Formats: sequence, structure tokens, C-alpha cells
Amino acid sequence: VVEGDRLYDLSDLVDCVTDSWPPVGMLQFIEKFAALRPVIQQRIDSGAGERFDAANLSAPIPWPSKIVAYPANYQLHIAEMASQNRADKNGFFLKASSSISGPNDAIVLPELAGREIHHECELGIVIGRKTRHVSLDAALEAVFGYTCLIDVVVRGDEERVMRKSHDTFCPIGPWLVTRDEIASPGDLDTRLWVNGTLRQHANTRDLIYDIPHMICKAASVATLYPGDIIATGTPDGVGPLADGDEVTISIERIGSMTLAVRSASRP
Ligand code: MN
Repeated sequence: VVEGDRLYDLSDLVDCVTDSWPPVGMLQFIEKFAALRPVIQQRIDSGAGERFDAANLSAPIPWPSKIVAYPANYQLHIAEMASQNRADKNGFFLKASSSISGPNDAIVLPELAGREIHHECELGIVIGRKTRHVSLDAALEAVFGYTCLIDVVVRGDEERVMRKSHDTFCPIGPWLVTRDEIASPGDLDTRLWVNGTLRQHANTRDLIYDIPHMICKAASVATLYPGDIIATGTPDGVGPLADGDEVTISIERIGSMTLAVRSASRP
């Protein structure tokens, strides 16, 4: 946990050895978070900890049980893709959990001659508790926090799950911001730049299917577990990534991260 410019190591609070496999310590931490809060506060109050350095961060949740993703959830993106789909009509798909990468990892482009690989700027909703059949009114109580998420995708006609599940196609980070720090998740500015040029700029108030609806629908199908991630869908402005690009995502009240993009053929 980070408070001010100090980082407090809490990994001893969960029964999980750092670097063990599978890397599920964060899921255990999220599940126990409410109970651990007094202990966490004590540790912060102790003033121990080390200087926080974002360069050392890796994916905040490396091993969620699933990534639920809503396509076609902003009107202007539906228009730019000439899509017949809408999130409130078509629901969600799943993206492989193994596509997750962190704020200091490159997006690695597979060698697919003639194919475009696009960035999609999205808010990541992190589930905080086991949730099944939740009401709209109670849906936000299922949230642990929020993070920036880039849904990378190969454009084309193959199954969407395959086109979106390449390794490194789901950068998340640079950290999680807990729910209590974001009073209005339905009013957050989201931005994405490629090589310093603003490509995407929107606000979560323009989501067709808002955050409670997304949680509610997902939990009507599958049990949501602590650490599960919901990708909200992208606004307009999607476009191709190329070897050598630098892509930056920034979400109001959460943070930003800049990722290198490279071809799989380049070491
Ligand atoms: Mn998407």
C-alpha cells in the first residue's frame, strides 16, 4: 500500500510466498482487505516503509480468475466501428487472464502480416468480494477498486477471445485505487496517447452500460471472485499500435502509465 510517498510492504499479511506460483497473494489480500484494514493502518502509522518508486511495479493482479470485458459500450466507438452490437444487448466476453501485463512491461505485437493491432482505453473494475446475483443498488459494494486497463486487440474476423488474448494484451496498472477513494466512478475522464498524440479522450459518464449494470449482468451469469476484473469497453479513437510506439493511458483519480510497444521479432 502507498500513502504519500511511502510504500508499505504488506505481503506478510497473506499466506503467500512472494514469487510463488500461482501468483494469487493479491487475491487473498483483496479477500481479506476489510479485516486487515486496522493492521494496515497501524503499519502506516508506524511510519516505517520505504520510498515509493513506480519503476518497480508489476501487474497489480497477475492471476485473476477471469477478465470480463464489455464490447460496444460507448456510442461513438460503435459508430466508428459501424458495429451492430451494444453492450446492454450483447453482454460480455472473456479475455484470457494470462494476457495481463504490468505498467513496466512492453506490449508485444505478434507477427501477423498485414493485420492491425489496436489499443482500447478502458477503466478496469476490480471485484472485492465473492458476488453472485447482486442488485443494481448494491453492485458498487462488490468493488474493491479501479485501475487503468488497455484492451489490446487484433482486428479481424477470428473469434474475439483469441484476438484479444495474446500475451501482454491486457496491461493493467500502474496500481489499484480502492473504492473509497473514488466517489464517482461514473464520472472519470479517460485518456490515451500514442507517441504523445492524444488518441482517445472520454468520460465514464458516457458508458452505455454503466458500472452497476456491468457488475449486475456479469454476476447474473458467473460468480465473481475477489480480484476479478471487468473491462468497461472503449470509447472512440481506437487505432493501430506499431513496433517502437509508446502508449500512455491516464484515468482521472487513478493514475497513468506509459508502455513500450515492440514487435515479437525484436528482442
Ligand atoms: Mn475493449
